[in-house]
Amino acid sequence: MPMSPYPVRCYGKDCKKLASYKIAARWSDGATSELKTYALSCPKCLPELFRMAQEKQKRCRLAPGETLEVPGIWQLTRGLRDRQLERLTELEAQLSQPGENESV
Ligand SMILES: [Zn+2]
Repeated sequence: MPMSPYPVRCYGKDCKKLASYKIAARWSDGATSELKTYALSCPKCLPELFRMAQEKQKRCRLAPGETLEVPGIWQLTRGLRDRQLERLTELEAQLSQPGENESV
């Protein structure tokens, strides 16, 4: 495995693990689009950080003409650009389901 000069850490509170996922949403203003990163996460913190990203996305105010898709999860692979990352839609679906023990 090639060494990276920039180790990417999980955004989880007090978590010092290396991140293996990127939580991001595709943003566009009609002319350009980019991945707006909400969090980088290790496997353990992923459910929590993904839920936080979903809440943030809902609260996000957009200017006219801007669009912001719901957050997704990408496999973080060092050395690859955003558009080359693999999107983990199955994992998104799993984590989007309401937890059985949770009541709001
Ligand atoms: Zn973590």
